[in-house]
Amino acid sequence: MLHRDELDTVQRRLQDVKGTTVLIYEQTCAAEKRRRRKRGKFPDPAKRMFINPDVCEGCGDCSVKSNCVSVWPLETEMGRKRQIDQSNCNKDFSCVKGFCPSFVTVLDAEPRKPRKSALASEGNLVLPDPEVARFDGEYNLMVSGIGGTGVVTIGALLAMAAHLEGKACSVFDMTGLSQKNGAVFSHVRIANETGALGAQKLGVGDADVALAFDAVAALAKEPGITFDPARTRSVVNGRITPTPAFQRNPDLNIDKRLLLKRIADQSREVHAVDATGLGLALLGDTIAANLFMLGYASQLGLLPVSAAAIERAVELNAVSVPFNKAAFALGRLQVVDPGKVEAAAVTTRPPEFKPLTELSDIVAHRTALLTKYQNAAYAERYRRLVDEVSAVEARVTPGETGLSVMVARNLAKLMAYKDEYEVARLHSDPAMRAQLAATFEDGAKIRYNLAPPLFSRRDPATGHLLKREFGSWMGSVFQVLARMKGLRGTALDPFGRTAERRMERGLIDHYEEQMRMVCATLTPANCQSASKKDPLSASKRDPLRRAV
Ligand code: SF4
Repeated sequence: MLHRDELDTVQRRLQDVKGTTVLIYEQTCAAEKRRRRKRGKFPDPAKRMFINPDVCEGCGDCSVKSNCVSVWPLETEMGRKRQIDQSNCNKDFSCVKGFCPSFVTVLDAEPRKPRKSALASEGNLVLPDPEVARFDGEYNLMVSGIGGTGVVTIGALLAMAAHLEGKACSVFDMTGLSQKNGAVFSHVRIANETGALGAQKLGVGDADVALAFDAVAALAKEPGITFDPARTRSVVNGRITPTPAFQRNPDLNIDKRLLLKRIADQSREVHAVDATGLGLALLGDTIAANLFMLGYASQLGLLPVSAAAIERAVELNAVSVPFNKAAFALGRLQVVDPGKVEAAAVTTRPPEFKPLTELSDIVAHRTALLTKYQNAAYAERYRRLVDEVSAVEARVTPGETGLSVMVARNLAKLMAYKDEYEVARLHSDPAMRAQLAATFEDGAKIRYNLAPPLFSRRDPATGHLLKREFGSWMGSVFQVLARMKGLRGTALDPFGRTAERRMERGLIDHYEEQMRMVCATLTPANCQSASKKDPLSASKRDPLRRAV
């Protein structure tokens, strides 16, 4: 019996064995563990992972290693980084194998719940009874979403509500690869009598209503064929969750408008609502999204069962009843008084990230960063090139700043490479402590996940250094190391002669040289294309070569 970390090694060994070989892989899926933990039926380690966004380079290696969709993009002024969606984390911890020193283990502290809106605590909101959808024969709902978010529960609630009203119902769940947050579908048929129910699975154009808890899942082949442009009314979660494709392509941008348009093209009508964002803002947890959407669909009069029957089904389900009833009621309120919902959400919703766009603001931000990184002279080197490019661009294409902005962003990234001193500085920076304190409850103990080249073993298969956890005492080491940054790049720098560090310094020289060549040949005709070439997109970056 071997640990799953040995899987690759075992497979390599087996490939050399003649004849048939058998490999038995046994593991409870992480989503199932999370489900059992919620019910208190599985040990719940008091352990979490946190990514220090300032250390993260956004290479995406943690997504590749874990293939986990709880590793979310985090847009920052220094580009796209990674964060862990703590409310959806399965505690699998494979993301920590990402080849970088960004990961901090947090012990004995749960994530802080975002503040609940007062609206969610108002008790029973008084709402007008929605109409119940009328139908002849049977009424079909196609429910689609992401595994682990309660898609199957919604199908079960609809079935129970139908049963409570004396209606017949069949539910056919397709849970597929839900263990890695894959798509999950529930085919729900409701009729006034059992004889009117057709085959369990919905067929081509069968859906009266599509509950698209996830727009990407809703467009998969299985639910996709059930849409009928003359029949299907769609209710769509307007928040797009990163798909597994994001794990392979860190620069992936999913076009929300295109997804919604594709659903609209296949539907008679579409109602989109940011259920995930509103659920998080109002109830402090993204898991509220599906019940919120069910309430929304109910109040729109799209469900063939009454709101009262659904509420009773929630009570009978006996899991997080007040929370789920509040989510359902708030979804209904979104139809009745969207302004009231938005006004409440605005007070608790985290501010939307807006990148700096003015050249002067970008330069000021990076100058401050590079001064902290090394010193004022280092920042001056940065400003010198940006000023040169800016002067040439202003002369060649007056009024344009595209090229200067690109250089201002990219040169700073290259110059602030994450060597031992910088990682130490960022991990001991009060900003990191503040972020940890904002994310987790008081009393957290922390550990750092590092692979110091001098003390670490290498993975025999990949050749990568293997990370280990270091206790909080490492914080003191970081403080000392951070103060030694003056040695960076000098003859006394103990880390400066490694291949990585020489390459990083060489890249800065090379970039400066290249940009000066661009300036020398800049014309109005080539300026625009020069400013669109981004040599530093995440997909073109390697993971950090060496963890500290
Ligand atoms: S640097 Fe790469 S591996 Fe590390 S947290 Fe960021 S994206 Fe993940």
